[in-house]
Amino acid sequence: MRNRRAIDGMDNSGKKMDKTPQSVIRDEIRALSAYHVPDSRGMVKLDAMENPYALPPALCAEIGELSAGAALNRYPDPVAAPLKARLREAMQVPDGIELLLGNGSDELIQIVALAVNRPGAALMSVEPSFAMFKMIATYTGLRYIGVPLASGFGLDAARMRSEIAHHQPALVFIAYPNNPTGNLFDADAVRAVIEACQGLVVVDEAYHVFAQKSFVPELERYPNLLVMRTLSKLGLAGLRLGMLIGRPQWLAELDKLRLPYNVNVLTQKLATHVLGRANVLQAQAAAILGERARVAAVLSSMPDVTPFPSEANFILFRVARADAVFASLKARGVLIKNLHASHPSLTDCLRVTVGTPEENAQFLSALHESLRQAA
Ligand code: PMP
Repeated sequence: MRNRRAIDGMDNSGKKMDKTPQSVIRDEIRALSAYHVPDSRGMVKLDAMENPYALPPALCAEIGELSAGAALNRYPDPVAAPLKARLREAMQVPDGIELLLGNGSDELIQIVALAVNRPGAALMSVEPSFAMFKMIATYTGLRYIGVPLASGFGLDAARMRSEIAHHQPALVFIAYPNNPTGNLFDADAVRAVIEACQGLVVVDEAYHVFAQKSFVPELERYPNLLVMRTLSKLGLAGLRLGMLIGRPQWLAELDKLRLPYNVNVLTQKLATHVLGRANVLQAQAAAILGERARVAAVLSSMPDVTPFPSEANFILFRVARADAVFASLKARGVLIKNLHASHPSLTDCLRVTVGTPEENAQFLSALHESLRQAA
């Protein structure tokens, strides 16, 4: 016979079991807002650091053939050997260093966070930085510590050292270049963090193609370093492929948390093929860098606009009334990212992804109009 109390909606201790998310889902998850992706249909989309260029038609035709021939009825290659070989070559991974692939680098952040999650363990990053570091700390129940950047968004090595000594984080994420600020931290300051930390330090090089500075050569020097990359900013965001690069001892442990077949058949096939034409993606990145310089110069020339230096494919800039300017840009069909109110050091800041010359021209002219309107 069923427990009378359970039928009344009480557990054995008399606590109410109301079968709702409130009674079951962790408080810190209910307190979160889901990662918001705004509706961009019909807009000039400059909010998500995507590469704005399509692949050339001949390469698209090859992708069509490869996709048609893909064995979609089979699970993917669990170790993605051909893709890893291609990536090793493309990223000049030293011998003795391995790769772990993820469904985007977001998944890899989660895997590392799950792996270090002993009771009381902490995840540290800087602020402002990539929002997922804090969100994933919350998902996985890690204590999150956000260390403020110095003025000018530099990495404050002395402050980091003292926070590391105090909190002893199991895991530190440093985005290099940083998002949303766009700057590249001083390499010696990053080294100071790696040296001070007893835990694992992940240098997130999502924007590497635009900055061309890397900690991959330092993997042999530092036993507690992993480097993370993604194909998202390079031009293949839709394929969702991220990678951790590091010593096999670390990756063998992390691999146990990777869900089987996390990199699907099409991603494996198509990424391998497109990376074989690296010159196409490199040429697109070069075009983006040229446009970045042009957009930054125009922003600098606008009264009441202060752009910050960028080593990535986006530019952070400050205006007098960011909320109004953002809304006005949106009304003109241009979607960028409003960072006002996301962090005290980002008051009145907006972030624009560098697009095609046409998109950038549309953005700049809409910004010009929006600033006039907001004045
Ligand atoms: N790291 C940084 C610093 C990012 O800005 C982003 C995406 N905006 C990511 C990681 C996540 O990239 P992916 O698409 O590989 O999940």
